Amino acid sequence: MTELIRIFMTLFQPVGIALSMAYVYGLIARRKLDGVAVRPIMGLVLGLAAVTSMSSPVEISDGFLIDSRLVFVALAFAYFDVQGGIIALVIAGLTRFAIGGDGMTVGLTAMCSVAACGLKWSKFIRSRGVPNVAATLLLATVVAMHALIGLLLPQAARQIYMANIAPFSFVVQFVGTLALGLLLTRERLQIIRVQTLQTACQTDGLTGVLNRAAIREFVDGLNSRPQAPRGRALLLMDIDRFKIINDTYGHPVGDAVLVQFVQRTRDCLREGDLFSRIGGDEFSVLLPDTAAGTAEIIANRCRMAISGTALRVDDLTLDLTVSIGVSWTPLQASFDHHSASADHALYHAKRNGRNYTCVGSPLLVPAAVSLDATA
Ligand code: GH3
Ligand code: MG
Repeated sequence: MTELIRIFMTLFQPVGIALSMAYVYGLIARRKLDGVAVRPIMGLVLGLAAVTSMSSPVEISDGFLIDSRLVFVALAFAYFDVQGGIIALVIAGLTRFAIGGDGMTVGLTAMCSVAACGLKWSKFIRSRGVPNVAATLLLATVVAMHALIGLLLPQAARQIYMANIAPFSFVVQFVGTLALGLLLTRERLQIIRVQTLQTACQTDGLTGVLNRAAIREFVDGLNSRPQAPRGRALLLMDIDRFKIINDTYGHPVGDAVLVQFVQRTRDCLREGDLFSRIGGDEFSVLLPDTAAGTAEIIANRCRMAISGTALRVDDLTLDLTVSIGVSWTPLQASFDHHSASADHALYHAKRNGRNYTCVGSPLLVPAAVSLDATA
């Protein structure tokens, strides 16, 4: 009886390790490391978990070791693709090789077999979305079936194994894979939910560009990085006489105009330029590492893309123009400071008759806004 309890305790120890694995995964993935970094790190972590489980195995006869390394190898392939899987397999495989003994070949065969099963499961099930309970049960059953690998052992060891160890091994592998699989799935769902909410918080619902809070946070974040050699520019755009469109054709037409405005403007921007909706018919574009002259060229390109061709909304043909204020700074200005300067230039653009780009004086003093604008 005491021996049975000892075997159970030894075999269930990895379930505790599995719980820690799910926690570690949550920590790593929440730190916004992209998938490329998460996979090898989790492969390493699961490989080390397999080594930990191998460090306290049940030895059924000389060199025949039973533990739950298969759970970790299978899950590394199932949840962290070839990248994560190979790392876990190499770590677990080398450790098993170093331990040696007569059961080594069977042990390594079992590892390779669960690796293949985990990879197939990943390809056919996980690639179709977040796995459900039934899919995880299937994986757990397949991994647990590897308890039958003992049938490959020499006859004397096989009998001891099948009678005393295989049932325990089956249960532990099944419970371990199911528990850790469900936990990893739950963590992944939580992370997806948080990312979806974060994206929604940073995005303008109508046009899909960044909202004011997001651009503000981004620009202010830039100030902790090295200053850009060419400085940076902020364009503030306001559609001309937009209220008339709303009043004449209705709000839905106004909405469609805003969406088309965004599409056209976006086509004029470079990769890395950040387009956002400040509110209503006012938009901003951050041009990182951009000289003042280039900023003016880009602003005029955007302006002419809007005024050059009439918009089509349903059966309507609408002429649209936009006024743009440009503020350039060689400094690390805050978003509020920079946009106040661009707003001042925009005010002059409107006063100049609209459909106009006004470049304000360079913003040279971080603590104070230069309000002199020149056309
Ligand atoms: P100006 O040339 O001086 O900019 O004139 P304007 O008519 O464009 O004036 P203003 O920029 O102040 O008008 C913005 C209008 O945008 C007022 C508001 O009704 C409308 N608006 C704000 N948000 C939305 C929206 O989400 N959809 C639509 N259709 N209209 C909006
Ligand atoms: Mg307007």
